[in-house]
Amino acid sequence: MSKKIVIVGAGVAGVNAATKLVDNGYPGELITIIDMGKDPYKRKPEEVMTGFLGAGGWSDGKLTYHTAIGGQLSKYCGEEKAMELMNQVITNFKRFHPKPEEVQCSNPETEPDFIKPYFGLRLFPVWHVGTDYLSEIGKNWYDFLVDKGVNFEWEAKVVSIDFKNQKFEALDIYQLDQPYANTRVGDYDRLIFGVGKSGIDFAQELANQYELPDEPKSVQIGVRFEAPQKHFQKLIDVSYDFKLYRKFEDKGVSLRSFCTNNNAAYVAVEETYGDHTYNGHAKKDMRYRNDMTNFGILMEINGIEDPFAWSRNVVNKLQFNGTGLYYSPTRIPSTTAEGNNVTSFQIDNLSGVEHVMGEYWTYIMDFIEDMKKVFPTLQDDWGIYIPEVKYLSPEPLVNYNNLSLTKYPNVHFVGDALSARGITVSGAQAIYVAENVLEQFCKVENGSYICEFDNINGDIINW
Ligand SMILES: Cc1cc2nc3c(=O)[nH]c(=O)nc-3n(C[C@H](O)[C@H](O)[C@H](O)COP(=O)(O)OP(=O)(O)OC[C@H]3O[C@@H](n4cnc5c(N)ncnc54)[C@H](O)[C@@H]3O)c2cc1C
Repeated sequence: MSKKIVIVGAGVAGVNAATKLVDNGYPGELITIIDMGKDPYKRKPEEVMTGFLGAGGWSDGKLTYHTAIGGQLSKYCGEEKAMELMNQVITNFKRFHPKPEEVQCSNPETEPDFIKPYFGLRLFPVWHVGTDYLSEIGKNWYDFLVDKGVNFEWEAKVVSIDFKNQKFEALDIYQLDQPYANTRVGDYDRLIFGVGKSGIDFAQELANQYELPDEPKSVQIGVRFEAPQKHFQKLIDVSYDFKLYRKFEDKGVSLRSFCTNNNAAYVAVEETYGDHTYNGHAKKDMRYRNDMTNFGILMEINGIEDPFAWSRNVVNKLQFNGTGLYYSPTRIPSTTAEGNNVTSFQIDNLSGVEHVMGEYWTYIMDFIEDMKKVFPTLQDDWGIYIPEVKYLSPEPLVNYNNLSLTKYPNVHFVGDALSARGITVSGAQAIYVAENVLEQFCKVENGSYICEFDNINGDIINW
């Protein structure tokens, strides 16, 4: 007997799954990882989303360590297990780090009194790997897996998967547009699907093709709030990317400040489905310093029947003259880093917005009113860009014990392709799956896995 594991995507999730398997004696020769990007020696800095370690390989290298950050994990496996799995991911990053002693942890421990009783502040440890080291980590990690016998197929894009017959097809990325491209075909006993954000369209295609049921989603909508940084400095000193939050459990609504930018902070216009919505970003180069702070005030609303259609309709109604809205009691829209006005239509009252958003608008205004109490210098020195929205991609319904599709139990979805939004959660989901594979395919003796298979060398994927 042999058991072939095929991992689609050599991103954070795929690489952590393979590592967990080989660390526990699973023969690397039975594991094949296919990625449309390049190995870490060839991957270029501009290839942000593809190649060894995926988006994580060229990320900001911040490893968050809290189950409320980075997407769903404890929902599947419980709080305690989730923390243990995330810890394994952090340990892996340190293990392949050329200077592990330089991995720093920032860990604000107590909520400052001045924000109480109006807000909670999400406090969580973050391990800073250091962006500059990610490439070296990638090379060390890759060498380890190759030494263990893991097969890698680079610059190959998986274009179809036959879940029923456990087969897939991949194309050389340089032949994607050619009518007679050399299609490569393979089969699997277990498939780990970790295609990240760069594979989201493919994931959607498969979901449609196989009519995969998905999890109900929430609406995520609000505004981009902007004000001079000095009003928030006291909180920024405690937590740079602060996350204020409040919950109205009985109403199915919670609010949080989202993606805080400071120092050289600019509001950005996003075009989504032809409408303007807002986001923010911070420039690293201090030549752009403008001493502003911006963050989303995002509402999560549960229980809306078709959250996508509802959000799109609201966003569409919050447009005027082909753009979004800006409101401030005293200010005018700010400029982009290039010195242009942030595209928006300035309104002098909020009655129209209130009409569109209905009861939900009150939550946003209360949030702002309470910030004025907590940050007393703020008063009317702020503005809001309306709307900010996050359209959540569908999350396939999986068995919670091993993240396998409810319709196809030997296909596991992991990472951003499932419900993750960060490195630690993506890697942790994949390790969770690997543990299940080990339990299914190997014996346990004295607390260790014994994985014994025939034909290891002759039984890898045949292209
Ligand atoms: C600029 C940037 C900065 C970020 N910074 C942070 C941070 O500091 N901290 C944090 O926690 N998160 C960060 N993230 C998010 C984090 O990188 C992702 O959440 C994480 O990498 C997801 O892991 P994954 O394995 O699911 O997907 P990915 O890491 O994206 O890997 C997916 C892999 O699948 C491959 N692939 C896709 N489709 C196919 C296909 N059809 N066939 C073959 N291969 C395919 C891709 O080439 C890619 O290598 C950042 C993201 C970006 C873009």
